[in-house]
Amino acid sequence: MAAISSPSQCRLIDVIAATFIGTAMERPNLPYLLATRRRRREGTNGGEPRTGRRLLLLLLLSVPQGRIARQIPMSLAGTGITKRPSQQCLDDARRPEAQEGTVEQDTRPWIPRKKVTTLAICLVALPVLLMTTVSRRDSPWTMPASFWQLATTSTRQGNSRSCLSRYNSAFYRKKMARSPSAHLIKRLREHEALQRRCGPGTEAYMAAAARLRSWHPNGTNHRDYTHVSCKYLVLVPYRGLGNNILAMASAFLYALLTDRVLLHDRTTSLGDIFCEPFQGASWLLPHHFPVKNLQNLTGNVQESYGHLVQRNDPAASVSVRRYVFVDLDHSCTYHDKLFFCDDHRRFLDRATWLLMRTDGYFVPALFLNPTYQEELDRLFPQKDAVFYLLAHYLFHPTNKVWGLITRFHDSYMRGSDERLGIQVRVFDGDTPFQHILDQILACTSREHLLPEVVTQEPPHPSTTSRARSKAVLMTGLSSWYYENIRWKYWQSATATGEAVSVYQPSHEEHQLSGYTTHDMKALAEMYLLSMTDKIVTSGWSTFGYVGHGLGGLTPWIMFRPENHTAPDPPCRRAKSMEPCMHGPPFYDCRAKQGADTGKLVPHVQHCEDMSWGLKLVHPE
Ligand code: GDP
Repeated sequence: MAAISSPSQCRLIDVIAATFIGTAMERPNLPYLLATRRRRREGTNGGEPRTGRRLLLLLLLSVPQGRIARQIPMSLAGTGITKRPSQQCLDDARRPEAQEGTVEQDTRPWIPRKKVTTLAICLVALPVLLMTTVSRRDSPWTMPASFWQLATTSTRQGNSRSCLSRYNSAFYRKKMARSPSAHLIKRLREHEALQRRCGPGTEAYMAAAARLRSWHPNGTNHRDYTHVSCKYLVLVPYRGLGNNILAMASAFLYALLTDRVLLHDRTTSLGDIFCEPFQGASWLLPHHFPVKNLQNLTGNVQESYGHLVQRNDPAASVSVRRYVFVDLDHSCTYHDKLFFCDDHRRFLDRATWLLMRTDGYFVPALFLNPTYQEELDRLFPQKDAVFYLLAHYLFHPTNKVWGLITRFHDSYMRGSDERLGIQVRVFDGDTPFQHILDQILACTSREHLLPEVVTQEPPHPSTTSRARSKAVLMTGLSSWYYENIRWKYWQSATATGEAVSVYQPSHEEHQLSGYTTHDMKALAEMYLLSMTDKIVTSGWSTFGYVGHGLGGLTPWIMFRPENHTAPDPPCRRAKSMEPCMHGPPFYDCRAKQGADTGKLVPHVQHCEDMSWGLKLVHPE
């Protein structure tokens, strides 16, 4: 039997061991791995210690699992271990020393004992490793999603359509801007199990829906509903797609914190543009949900949280209500906003059904509620990564949208040395404005995001050296800004010699939220913005927040113009990649009095683009 003496064989053992101590749970960074492999081929490896382990893990995962199962036992069974550990895992540089016998020898009779022990560990570890790989194949962040075999994903959990973006999106990103904590991963797995146990189609759901259906307003609710074991949060998002996405991410975090099943009102196009995030369970509200006209609910209904907190005994009121409605619209009242201070264990916990209507990002307010502080600290040690991590977990475009994204990216963005995103959102109407074009040009020039142009034709550049290329992805309802900037870089050469190409995927002219094709384009463009290297966004725009938040990009935010004048300065680099909460509470939950909520904790501060808004930052 040959000895395990090559570094790769030693690393194989290393990988198996790593799987059990958790290293293999990391999401490998593909471009980094490929670059490392390239460096190694070229003999220029920087020597990062875990690279070999990561690369082998990648290779293990890339091989169809049947082949792994066949190959690994063969290689192990065929080799055996006849050398001491120091010789087995010697690097190439020291192997000659070992062969010459200049490496210190230990002559104790360890070989048979070690051989048996190592073989036993391998035999036990391999099936477990393979089972873990198979069972977690569809779970983001337990294994690298992008390396799952596409062919094997088409039959998952009764859903015949595979969701390509779930597996392929990592190929389109340079690196993970932030990694999820182990605690977040654990809580996500638990939440998926909850959605499966209690979601639509389960007995628990049918019992809870029956409670809603048979509830009687005069209080004659005799039936025993003690078997209703699950609690639900029904989200009614509204306004544009950016608003919807921020509301969905916030509601999901609230559902995670309060152990509620999250379901979405399906009157929007969300079901057509996003894959289901939870394997084996739907997050869409069934068509026959007993409460109708959810989009028309307002804070004036008797079931509203605002009304309940004004009663003498809100806890008692909750138990006799059919549901509790949380109104988080911009027009909601001081009492509605007390929801952000609610200690769900004492009050809202009693409500089986929580219906919530919101169009925005309310995560910063959850960070101000002492009830959730400890758990949020464990979930998100890096405070500026909340939306980024939740969005990567939740939002996977359907195959049609993914086609729009990848075709555009591959045609216009992939080949450039650098990509700049410019998101133009105008709130004063659909006609183009000169002052907004001036603002874009001033911002990109002052911040050195786009090169200056020269007035004279430069001498012809050398044909041998390729000019550095910069692709500018512009998004907006109007094409006027794009046409002007494209003309600028077509008409004149750049002072730096860079080749600047400007693209805009669509110009819809008017907002038509709710129409599937329109929303598909909007999602594709948000996603494409997230694939750039640097990004300029329009202040106040949730469309822009999603673009930079999903990309893990700290944007340059253009301030909203006043009186049709470009502001000075035109833009500013943001403090973090997090979206801004537009309608925050102004109440200190601990002191139980009004307060400037941007000053209560270091990681919740006022936004750059909206002075009263709140956003999460990671304090220095
Ligand atoms: P916000 O209004 O800027 O906060 O962003 P929303 O996404 O909530 O609403 C604006 C809606 O207008 C989008 O969802 C799209 O339907 C449309 N829209 C605005 N800007 C663009 C754009 O650049 N591209 C496309 N395709 N649609 C846009």
